[in-house]
This record gives sequence, structure tokens and C-alpha cells, in this order.
Amino acid sequence: MSDVLVESPRLLGLIAADVAVERLGGGTIWAEGPVYFREGDFLLYSDIPNDRMMRWSAADGLTVYRQPATYTNGHTRDNQGRLVSCSHGARRVHRTEPDGTVTVLADRYQGRRLNSPNDVVVKSDDTLWFTDPFYGIKSNLEGHQAPREQPGQYVYRFDPASGNLTVVADDFEMPNGIAFSPDEALLYVADTGLSERSDGPRHIRVFDVVDGQRLANGRLFATCDAGMFDGFRLDTHGNLFTSAGDGIHVYAPDGERLGKILIPEKVANCEFGGPSGDQLFVTASSSLYRVQLTTRGATSGRAFAA
Ligand code: MG
Repeated sequence: MSDVLVESPRLLGLIAADVAVERLGGGTIWAEGPVYFREGDFLLYSDIPNDRMMRWSAADGLTVYRQPATYTNGHTRDNQGRLVSCSHGARRVHRTEPDGTVTVLADRYQGRRLNSPNDVVVKSDDTLWFTDPFYGIKSNLEGHQAPREQPGQYVYRFDPASGNLTVVADDFEMPNGIAFSPDEALLYVADTGLSERSDGPRHIRVFDVVDGQRLANGRLFATCDAGMFDGFRLDTHGNLFTSAGDGIHVYAPDGERLGKILIPEKVANCEFGGPSGDQLFVTASSSLYRVQLTTRGATSGRAFAA
């Protein structure tokens, strides 16, 4: 059986129908937060319950990058190439500087601690947009059990120039994966509220980004038919590649599902990488997978100085 389920011929512009998914390594409990470093051709990702970060490269294979790791979850890179991380354990978003020191960017809103930031994206104007569900404080499995201090699970915007942290969406049950369209006119956010109640949300919503700093016109983009959507990324054409219970689901910007890339484990997140940005790295429970595409990631063409 093929690893690619074609539901629309449009998928064939993004991936070959006969491509095989490659397993690069294993040994994790819950692999999440992949982030690619083009200049060194390597990938970092989180293994949250083991409180560590993994590193994969073709040259070195799979190694432990950092342990303990403050139970980090989602990662991305800012416009200067620095690693930006969501930390369940420290309940914050922080940045790793080129010399290895860590700068705390956001850990409180209106004087109260955040829940446990989950996933983050950086806009071209250097602002950081992140989600804050409470998975990291509901038990000791993915962080440290603690009471919630915020009245809800919000989507935030952080401006590093002013230090201001603002709520841009307050109507999610468990906001999770987050990404902009390539032109940054749209913001996509997943809601994994299904984890907390049997008829909870398991969808991705899309918003118009107004004046580069507010959200409007939130509407349903896609509903998952296999588990939940967690993290996701977009390609240069605005197609959305999202995690799901049975693999990667691929959506066109108009909302049509084009097909699936089937993975034999539950998928948490994905990231474009490779020297040309046309490989999709997939963090899926115990394993890291890779699949060759014929499209490229929207941000992986950036040239980083670091
Ligand atoms: Mg997530």
C-alpha cells in the first residue's frame, strides 16, 4: 500500500503519489516541536515526557541535544535565526541566544503565570504569536502539575520591541498549532479541546490578520476525521500540512483536503527542511519520519545569519 492517499489530483503538484515515508530514528515518548537549521542541515525537536530535546542530522543521526530541557514543546526560529521555544516546565516562551544563554520573552499575563505555552510562530515584524493551553500543568507527564492562574486558554501576541503581551483570541478551548499564511494575511490556529471532553473541538480555525496585530473574522477551516490536528506548517503556495492521528493531512488554501501522508504512529507536528526546503520532517510519538515533497516550506528559504 502506498504511503500517500490521494483525494484530489491537486495533491500531485505537491508530492509524488509513489513516494515512501522514511523512518529516521526512534526512542522518544512524545516527539513534538521540530525546527530545522538550514545552515547546519540538522533538525531539533522535543521529547516532552523525557524532558529532553533531540537532534537529527544525516551526518550524526539521532542524538540527545539537551536534557533536562524545561519540558519544551513547540519551537521555531526568529528572523535573526535564534531558537524560540515554548516551555511547559517554566511556563514561558524563551529565546536561546547565539552564546547559549536563555532570554525569557513572556511568562506572565496581567501578573499571573501563563498555563504552558505550546506552539509559537514568528511574524516578519519580529512579533511572536503563541498558544497557551494547559497540557503542561494538568499532570507531571509533560511538565509540573500546578493550578491554572489564567481564566482561559488564550492565543497571545508578544512584541519584543515594547515587551507588550496581548491576547489576540480568547475563544479557544485548547489552542495548539499556529501558523501564518505565506503573506501573513491569515493566521491558522488548531483547537484540541477534544482531549478534554468527548465532543470538544478537533479543528483548525483561520482568522484575518488586521493591521498586522489583531485577528478578525474567525471561521472554521478544517475538522479532523482521525484524532486531532496538533502542529502544522504551510508551504510557499499556502497549502497546509497538518498533523493528525493517522499521519499528515494536506489542505489547499480554499479548505479542500487534498489527501494524506500516512504515518504508522500518531503525529504531533511537522517541519519543512532539507537544503532546498522540500523535505517534510514529521514528529510522531516514538519516531521521527521524513518524506520528500515537490513543494517547499514557506519559511525554509530564509537565509539565517546564525
Ligand atoms: Mg502542539
